[in-house]
Amino acid sequence: MIYAYIENSKGKFKKAAYELVSYAKNLADTVGDSVTALTINSEDSSELLYKYGANKVINIQDEALKSFNPKEYASVLSEIMHGNYILFTHTTDSASIAPYIVKKKSAAYITQAISTPLSMVPFRVKRSVFSGKGIAVVETKEPIIVLTLSVNSIGAKENPVSGTEENITVCTDIDPRYTVKQEEVITGKLDVKDAELVIGAGRGMKGPENWGMIEDLANILGAATACSKPVSDLGWRSHSEHVGQTGKIISPKLYLSIGISGAIQHVAGVNKSKTIVVINNDPEAPFFKSADYGVIGDLFEVVPILTKKLKAFKEAN
Ligand SMILES: Cc1cc2nc3c(=O)[nH]c(=O)nc-3n(C[C@H](O)[C@H](O)[C@H](O)COP(=O)(O)OP(=O)(O)OC[C@H]3O[C@@H](n4cnc5c(N)ncnc54)[C@H](O)[C@@H]3O)c2cc1C
Repeated sequence: MIYAYIENSKGKFKKAAYELVSYAKNLADTVGDSVTALTINSEDSSELLYKYGANKVINIQDEALKSFNPKEYASVLSEIMHGNYILFTHTTDSASIAPYIVKKKSAAYITQAISTPLSMVPFRVKRSVFSGKGIAVVETKEPIIVLTLSVNSIGAKENPVSGTEENITVCTDIDPRYTVKQEEVITGKLDVKDAELVIGAGRGMKGPENWGMIEDLANILGAATACSKPVSDLGWRSHSEHVGQTGKIISPKLYLSIGISGAIQHVAGVNKSKTIVVINNDPEAPFFKSADYGVIGDLFEVVPILTKKLKAFKEAN
């Protein structure tokens, strides 16, 4: 049996869930097995997961787990996940649950997989290393494998099956010594992780008072705004916008970088973008090496012109 843990946000399956089910389905077809998707407190229809190949959806309902708690999530999941392949998406939440499952099952642990298996015996797969700069091929002969899949590595592929649903109600006793504090940042804006167009701005902006031009450009394009680490460290922008090795990893269709040098730690979070455009006044800025298009110029001149041109284009079309 192949198990996939499906994350949800406020009851709705996350976009990456469909990619994980697609991965599980591919694995299931290879070994002649079926896919069971497990969710905790989700409200979305299981049909959405059948569409990508989940043969069974088990929805665990537990009031105590409404607040995320990796240890307790792992306890509940491990009672059900009795398969050889236990799959998670490589997100902060899932990557906090998975190691507990590894320990409970004495399983092999492969993180940040980016390919379907290259072989099944031994189990070999490609994984991302060095913040996305390299690829390693790893293998294991262990009978139970816990694997986390990098987001946007294989993509979601529809593969409809007729599935069944099971609802289980659990009542977990949460260890009072262990609580997770959750704070939700509501900006009313597009989440940088889900957006197809993202505008990232860095220390070249000189100060938070200059972000109006970034917001204007983002509004015209319908883009989300992101920033480099120093910008969020300085409190110029919310930490929720910080992208990179220690921030969010994004893969939009377009990443427009403005006044960001392109340090390896920043690029690690955006190098899966389909197209990267860089605006920087330093022709030697490292970001130009990763860019598909570059503008060498002063952002305080280039950005207002770009916004004006895009506005005119939108009005004319
Ligand atoms: C362990 C570790 C983890 C890290 N994780 C992250 C991470 O997740 N994300 C991240 O972003 N960083 C991260 N960093 C920091 C990273 O190394 C860089 O210091 C940081 O990305 C630089 O931010 P920046 O490009 O905004 O600023 P700067 O390096 O100061 O670059 C500003 C850029 O703006 C350009 N500029 C200035 N004025 C203008 C103008 N008028 N017009 C056009 N261009 C202009 C400059 O030429 C320069 O290239 C990490 C560092 C470490 C050590």
